[in-house]
Amino acid sequence: MNSNSKKLIIAIDGHSSTGKSTYAKLIAEELNYLYVDSGAMYRAVTLHCMEKGLFDKAEDPDINLVINELSKIHISFRRNPETGQNETCLEDRVVEKEIRTLAVSGHVSYISTIAEVRTKMVALQREIGTDGGVVMDGRDIGTVVYPKAHIKLFMTAEAEVRAVRRQKELEEKGIAEDFEKVIENIQKRDRIDSGREVSPLRQADDAILLDNSNMTIEEQMKWFFETFSDTP
Ligand code: C5P
Repeated sequence: MNSNSKKLIIAIDGHSSTGKSTYAKLIAEELNYLYVDSGAMYRAVTLHCMEKGLFDKAEDPDINLVINELSKIHISFRRNPETGQNETCLEDRVVEKEIRTLAVSGHVSYISTIAEVRTKMVALQREIGTDGGVVMDGRDIGTVVYPKAHIKLFMTAEAEVRAVRRQKELEEKGIAEDFEKVIENIQKRDRIDSGREVSPLRQADDAILLDNSNMTIEEQMKWFFETFSDTP
């Protein structure tokens, strides 16, 4: 497989903070494909709901209010000409930094359990990937959004390793967070994402498992292109 291959759909699912986005982005760059961060969409909906005050003190969203609000939420991606990266927009506002905070991470899994939210996000994700040539990462890409994806990966890693990576990523964005809080959030999100009724996080039967606890990103890239070298 290389950048001349036919326009495949590559679905990357897995646990929180396993480096799915970084990996998906690099694979997309290598193949000259579109990269789509589906988690950013759920995060953007969550940010909107937080700003509208739709969560109570126990952090539960008012489901009916969220559903009513959905038609007013417009999510898109815009290319930043300076960095060359796609940034998430809510209406016309770039919210790339706001959606990565631990506050949003702490609320997003509750919003992602709402069936109506998922229906809207899945429709948007399918629309974006219509022409193929796309690498999309998330929790239900290989099971629900693209059950016929040409390549499906399921990524996991030990929780401590993931928390270290996540903390570093937040630091790089100028957000300082306690290690305990970071690991707690990761484990809580995994629990809610895997336990929800609608589209729970699970490895698709035909997905290939990648445990990257002890792998560098270079090793993971090598693994990918070796593993799928026969994919036309
Ligand atoms: O990928 P990321 O960690 O940014 O995703 C944030 C949250 O969005 C996940 O914890 C999950 O609750 C939700 N999500 C989802 N389905 C997806 C992508 C993300 O439910 N396809």
